[in-house]
Amino acid sequence: MTDRAQLAPAPRSRFALPREDRGALDPPERELALARVADLLARPTAPYFEDGPLAVVRRFAAERRGLRLREDRWGNLVLERGPAGPPRGSRGRGSTGRATGARGARRRLALSAHLDHPGLECLGKRAGETRAVLHGGVPASHLPGAAVRFFRPGESDACATARIARVVDPAARPPVVVLDHVRGRLGRGAFGTWDLTPGEMRGARLRARVCDDLVGAAAILATFDVLAARRSRAPLVGVFTRAEETGFVGCLGLLRAGVLGKDVDVVGLECSPRRPWARVGSGPVLRVGDAGTVFDPAISARLHATAAALREERPGFRFQRALMDGGRCESSAYNLWNVPAGGLCLALGNYHNCTPRGGIGPEFVDWHDYEALVAWLVAAAQGWGKRGPGANPRARLNRLWEAEYKRLATSAKRLGARGGRGR
Ligand SMILES: [Zn+2]
Repeated sequence: MTDRAQLAPAPRSRFALPREDRGALDPPERELALARVADLLARPTAPYFEDGPLAVVRRFAAERRGLRLREDRWGNLVLERGPAGPPRGSRGRGSTGRATGARGARRRLALSAHLDHPGLECLGKRAGETRAVLHGGVPASHLPGAAVRFFRPGESDACATARIARVVDPAARPPVVVLDHVRGRLGRGAFGTWDLTPGEMRGARLRARVCDDLVGAAAILATFDVLAARRSRAPLVGVFTRAEETGFVGCLGLLRAGVLGKDVDVVGLECSPRRPWARVGSGPVLRVGDAGTVFDPAISARLHATAAALREERPGFRFQRALMDGGRCESSAYNLWNVPAGGLCLALGNYHNCTPRGGIGPEFVDWHDYEALVAWLVAAAQGWGKRGPGANPRARLNRLWEAEYKRLATSAKRLGARGGRGR
């Protein structure tokens, strides 16, 4: 008799493309985008227990030609295609200034996503009670009664299931919970995810125990695949970080280690709580900022121009532009460490599995939003090193100036303006 045989079967998953095709990607590219989601979402994850998704990224790199994979001392992964950048420490930025001038030529695009999601770590038994600590932000009021499936690090078959009986001290950080209904073999060091479907497509809606941010990570891998399928030589960097949910600590380790070259522009990818002004199903979102900071304006402008051009080319492509202030994301950390960063995200329902009724349920995103995100990232990667539209956001303002400044000058004379010379 195995312990596992006693466990209730895991909730089923179903990964299938919706019948409707909006045309953001070509049909074979849609299959690639789906496969990357299925690979990653099948793996359980929690802060400090990203073993499964990390293994997926490693296997992805090993199975494809022309990719380089690096790891920093904290276990974050950096995946690269195309020519490597200049050596670290050399100047990668032009002299035209940080956010306003012409930039983009010869710089590389780096896409960043985190591989963890709020989850539990079993602390073992104390005074006859099995306890676990919650890593990541889920309000204590949502926890009692939640079903949890526990895994040993690196395994995808559960070792135990349990239910959260109560929170020991709702004010404590991180919160510790008491478990009951324990089935299977549960010991210290196992990690727990919500006992929900790894992923289920219903129509165009993907419901999953983890969207944030395995769907973001899947979008990066899909972008690598679509670029390869199109035989593109565009360089691309993918950054896969750990332990974002406990305060960007994986990303901070990466930044402190100085692993990224000075020639990269980062676009942080997230699933971010939907807003009345950024809806699930209305397209991926150009995230101009988060709850703490606004992002690099030049990168945002570049992404905006890419999306506008893509909409001309593929009429089914839609996008939104919004301040997504429902959470903070790693783009804030990158910018504060002087690595210029913008952001794109998917509007997310049931953020961190919190349902409107006060319990725990699957997160959800819209599949067409995801496909459009991948199409956007591919277009961005293909144009990033070139002086395409949006490469110089000041150019548009200069054109306006050239068209109008004479009228300004004539009227300034009438007004008797007496400032210094020069225009
Ligand atoms: Zn996230």
